[in-house]
Amino acid sequence: FPVEDIRNFSIIAHVDHGKSTLADRLLELTGTIEKTTNNKQVLDKLQVERERGITVKAQTASLFYSFGGKQYLLNLIDTPGHVDFSYEVSRSLSACQGVLLVVDANEGIQAQTVANFFLAFEAQLSVIPVINKIDLKNADPERVEKQIEKVFDIPSEECIKISAKLGTNVESVLHAVIERIPPPKVHRNNPLKALVFDSTFDQYRGVIANVALFDGMVSKGDKIVSAHTLKTYEVNEVGILVPNEQSTHKLYAGQVGYLIAGMKTVTEAQIGDTLYLHKHPVEPLPGFKSAKPMVFAGMYPIDQSEYNNLKSAIEKLTLNDSSVTVHRDSSLALGAGWRLGFLGLLHMEVFNQRLEQEYNASVILTTPTVPYKAVLASAKLIKVVKYLIPLCMSTNRELHKGVKVAEKLYFLKKMCNLLGSIMAIISSSFLLASFDYEDAGYQTAELVKMDILLNGNIVEELTTVVHKDKAYSVGKTICERLKDSLPRQLFEIAIQASIGSKVIARETVKAYRKNVLAKCYGGDITRKMKLLKRQAEGKKKLRKIGNIEVPKDAFIKVLKTQ
Ligand code: GDP
Ligand code: MG
Repeated sequence: FPVEDIRNFSIIAHVDHGKSTLADRLLELTGTIEKTTNNKQVLDKLQVERERGITVKAQTASLFYSFGGKQYLLNLIDTPGHVDFSYEVSRSLSACQGVLLVVDANEGIQAQTVANFFLAFEAQLSVIPVINKIDLKNADPERVEKQIEKVFDIPSEECIKISAKLGTNVESVLHAVIERIPPPKVHRNNPLKALVFDSTFDQYRGVIANVALFDGMVSKGDKIVSAHTLKTYEVNEVGILVPNEQSTHKLYAGQVGYLIAGMKTVTEAQIGDTLYLHKHPVEPLPGFKSAKPMVFAGMYPIDQSEYNNLKSAIEKLTLNDSSVTVHRDSSLALGAGWRLGFLGLLHMEVFNQRLEQEYNASVILTTPTVPYKAVLASAKLIKVVKYLIPLCMSTNRELHKGVKVAEKLYFLKKMCNLLGSIMAIISSSFLLASFDYEDAGYQTAELVKMDILLNGNIVEELTTVVHKDKAYSVGKTICERLKDSLPRQLFEIAIQASIGSKVIARETVKAYRKNVLAKCYGGDITRKMKLLKRQAEGKKKLRKIGNIEVPKDAFIKVLKTQ
């Protein structure tokens, strides 16, 4: 494919505005997948994505399309919309020259529409606004068109109105991609310069790197070098993603595809790495800014004998999700483990779920926290904390300083002394804020250490440092959640939250015996044995606090959205 017949683009939008559905239609229209009635978000391949109905990983697909008597190669990258995964979006954009900015015709511009637009704008990409879901009864594409003009300064004539669900007008999206997005600026005669923009670890084939070629070409059998490790490899396989891997033996500058080169450990082919030909070193590409984790949690194997397996699972998964930071940690109650940094709570949940589903790992996660420095003064913990997110999410004091961009819609950018710069869109009916933050140093705050006790025994996993003013409500919530998720046992269980020796909240679980054999009337002994065995297996997933059995689920339920 000549470079001028290639287009590389991403689909970006707020969550649920229809990116993945539009991707389905584009795959069908170009014959990449067969047109059937049950193509639903086919690029959302992970189990966690299908279960939650959200995209968490960017996915690449090469589409072939004839237009004006010419055959084009369109490389599409579908991206996640949730703020926790914007790191995926910014990396994807580095392989693109343009984006489809999808906006729901009913909801209009939302927080992540703005945040993602600015990612594309800063990367100097062409932006094609697509107003989706025009089939909805309450759709108001004209209003959304005006919003887009006002907020992004894009003439309303440039908006393409479609229904991704029904397929209405989707063909004109493909035409716009060809007409409005420039081909990549690359040099095929220069030696190879390839950016690793994503990476997965395959048990049998080692590292599979997703690459965008900026210069030159790469063929099967070439000797290549990683700029990051300076290790040399032989290319075993190269190809395109349609959307599954299809070997092509060669990739040329301007193309996006995958490459396998016998990298056997996860420290090789890190995301952001530059690959070049042996004996033809090039200036490495700038790579990616490292992600800024906001939420930290401890992760431990349920059983210490699983430590090494879990270690390897975490390494493999972080290769695929490089926004997670990992440091070794240990806890008296839980043994050896790690302190992981995530971009948000949803990110933490998704990472945990992927570990379980893709690596069969079973873990305990501790209460997520933000980093703090603590100075211990008498029995009370004091001060110095870095943070705090929820404060800013709820403030609209400075609304009047915002710029009114449309009826009921304000755009505001302000400095927050705690967080750095905040960018928010506020509509009068509800508040949505998307923000970026810079390190504003440490702030003093009154903090206390709060313990959770079961019949007087401290549950170390649930010990937290909380703001003094929030201790009561947090303690109460944890006790209530624990009450809901603890199975009744033969004796009564007192659940308490305490600061030092002072109890600030209490719940009680009444005694009860869950008889697993109750269903077995008569004398079916094999059935009884099976049930007993299953109960014994279930117990492996239990932690013992004193003589109380706490299922792993209880921890997760308590920690989840606190
Ligand atoms: P994403 O989060 O941006 O990838 O959004 P999805 O593609 O997963 O779509 C979110 C929801 O909107 C799904 O339930 C889709 O079926 C629905 N949806 C997508 N496009 C349309 C459309 O054109 N019309 C209608 N009515 N629903 C749509
Ligand atoms: Mg999606």
